[in-house]
Amino acid sequence: MRIVTGGILHETHTFSNDIPGVEDFMRASGGRGEEVRSFAGTNTSIGGVLDECNARGIELVPTLVTGTIATGMATRDTFESLLGEMLAGMRKALPVDGVILTLHGAMVAEGYPDAEAEITRRVRELVGPNTPLAITLDLHANIGQEMVDLADIVVGYDTYPHVDANERAREAVGLLARTINREISPVLARAQPPMLPVPQGMNTSKYPMAALFQHAFELEASGAALSITIAGGFPYADTPSAGFCVVVVADNDPDQATAIAAELAHMAWERRDEFLVKNVAIRDAVSEAIAHPERPVVLVDVGDNIGGGTPGDSTFLLRELLDQAAQNATIFIADHEAVLEAFSVGIGGTLDTHVGGKTDSLHGEPVPVRGTVRLLSDGRWTHDGPEMAGLPVDMGLTAVVRVDGVNLVLTSRKIAPGDLQQLKSVGIDPSQQNIIVVKAAVRWRGGYAPITRHSIDVDTPGLGSVDLTSFSFRHLRRPIYPLDPDTEWHG
Ligand SMILES: [Zn+2]
Repeated sequence: MRIVTGGILHETHTFSNDIPGVEDFMRASGGRGEEVRSFAGTNTSIGGVLDECNARGIELVPTLVTGTIATGMATRDTFESLLGEMLAGMRKALPVDGVILTLHGAMVAEGYPDAEAEITRRVRELVGPNTPLAITLDLHANIGQEMVDLADIVVGYDTYPHVDANERAREAVGLLARTINREISPVLARAQPPMLPVPQGMNTSKYPMAALFQHAFELEASGAALSITIAGGFPYADTPSAGFCVVVVADNDPDQATAIAAELAHMAWERRDEFLVKNVAIRDAVSEAIAHPERPVVLVDVGDNIGGGTPGDSTFLLRELLDQAAQNATIFIADHEAVLEAFSVGIGGTLDTHVGGKTDSLHGEPVPVRGTVRLLSDGRWTHDGPEMAGLPVDMGLTAVVRVDGVNLVLTSRKIAPGDLQQLKSVGIDPSQQNIIVVKAAVRWRGGYAPITRHSIDVDTPGLGSVDLTSFSFRHLRRPIYPLDPDTEWHG
């Protein structure tokens, strides 16, 4: 059996003006052809594809696998260049028995409001209508009908934080192999209630997502469905298909697939209020953290949720920590300019400058700081996990500066927090901090859970704001809950 694989992964924040180029896609987590094999054993989708093909003795031809952290929209040229390269690799690999694409599901490119639909359409065109095609997706996928119509198998992550990327890809390869062997005939159904939840409401270890997945797992275990994808969606992509969605893969029974998709979509709709979140005001959050008897306390800077496409240089919490004289608090700010200044004064020197708030006007003003440079680093480390275990990271040149009671970590590139190795790599023992700021929504919990004694979700403004009324949507389907509170749906 011979399978070809490729992937372009991006969660696109269409309100962000941070435009990624081809080099950003390739640097963050990319590989071409045989290079892709270095992802074997990592807790990523492509890692799972490689591992399962190895285990089953399937000949796998890797083409282009690429992805970058959530940012603004890629240009048409960037998208065409990546997709063109992937398709050229696939063309060379023909004939194949099957295809597996590792996608995110919430990618928007210039001219392509549903980039995954376009990728799938071109791959389908290349391999023809009868070659089984499987797709893996992130839990934050915005799933449109066109991609579902073109695919044979869709498998999304069942977890947020995403700790099952490898496992879900192995599941998808298993279903693909059984399809190629004619053991199963997968059919797909999709149901999308008019709901636009925020990432913070999608933690799969909490209600309502935990209840939905529990039911989905029962249905899978009973044999009623081969696989069920429950995607919370990504609300910051202003497209018609943004929002919550269910996709069901059933064996040769379209009615059953449709019925199960509808049942789960209704279950989510009934619980739509449970997806709403309320966060703590900045000043109250910092004073609560300072007063809390146990440590560390994690302050979650939801408005600057880097994993969701924000700049990572929000200063609201830094300013408040300094104003309230917090002691032994750690905060990361992405600010390449300030890093270079720290390198020029050197370890032990005094840095006197303004940091953060430089990318746009939504994440606070630059904050004046004066402190001692404690450490300078190349910013490289490797994920310990659970998410992305084994995957190397490059934060760019990095400096730790002690400003009053605050350990200010200045990085050249923003990196979504979720792995304690990020702190340890710059000499910070996370368990010994009083306060740690994470610029995140939910993903941070994957790595931080063992050391966190208390956490506070902070109502910071920014591109990650949970107040969706602060964004001017133009392409989203309406009415949609909670933007339109009186939305009705009878499916
Ligand atoms: Zn995600």
